[in-house]
Amino acid sequence: MDILKNHNQSTNKQGAGSPTANPPALFVRDLTVAYNRKPVLWDIDLDVPSAVVAGIVGPNGAGKSTLIKAILDLVPHTSGNVEIFGRPYKEQRLIVGYVPQRESVDWTYPITALELVAMGLYRKIGWFKPVTARYRERAREAMDQVGMADFADRQISRLSGGQQQRIFLARALVQDASMYFMDEPFAGVDASTEEAIMAILQELREQGKTVFVVHHDLETVRRYFDHLIMLNMRVVAAGACSEVFTEENLRRTYGGRLTLLDRAVDAIGGIKP
Ligand code: ADP
Repeated sequence: MDILKNHNQSTNKQGAGSPTANPPALFVRDLTVAYNRKPVLWDIDLDVPSAVVAGIVGPNGAGKSTLIKAILDLVPHTSGNVEIFGRPYKEQRLIVGYVPQRESVDWTYPITALELVAMGLYRKIGWFKPVTARYRERAREAMDQVGMADFADRQISRLSGGQQQRIFLARALVQDASMYFMDEPFAGVDASTEEAIMAILQELREQGKTVFVVHHDLETVRRYFDHLIMLNMRVVAAGACSEVFTEENLRRTYGGRLTLLDRAVDAIGGIKP
């Protein structure tokens, strides 16, 4: 039984990357992904520097989740090359953390919040080895960091949506990764949880870590992100948020969904034409 539902482990088809002197944190070239032969990501190229909080935005079905899963080898690529700090993902697994969408997790799985957080350590300590007191302590610290210290012994099925999201963040934090991918960490959480999560992501950036966040609320994009990937099957625009988050790029990304878009553009106010 796997706590993550419907994740097919792919065969790794990418070639070994050659390390360069100063590689970007994330390097993607010519990445194409198809489900049942229907392409959902087409020719994706990305170069993302380290120590940024990077947003991934685009309409529903744009391929945002698929992009993360393809980078993490959770879905097969038709073609393409992905490198994390100049090395293929499979060599960098230990330094990459993933917070999946809350709905992709089997929350009926019979474990406590602390046990779920400690699962973030398994790659470090090895499966089937006991979680020692030191690691248990590390898991408790991470729970404290996300404001969930009092819920250690609660079954995960009995946590609210916001609490589940915080616990999943704690599970990623104990991994002490250099790069994190978070798929809609703010979906269905209250404003205080969103603020708490965002403060932690900014702290991770201060520590030099690189964080990717699939995000829906265009009104907070400018405030939250240094770097932005605007996606709609292809990369419409990517770069410093201050440069690429323009009305023109929003229109190109969201196409005809003008009602939503106009509201967002109005809310943003002085967005560059
Ligand atoms: P987003 O995260 O931007 O909403 P997704 O990456 O979830 O987009 O989906 C991109 C496209 O791929 C959508 O058209 C979706 O229906 C399709 N898709 C996603 N997962 C699968 C799957 N496991 N099998 C077939 N099609 C899928």
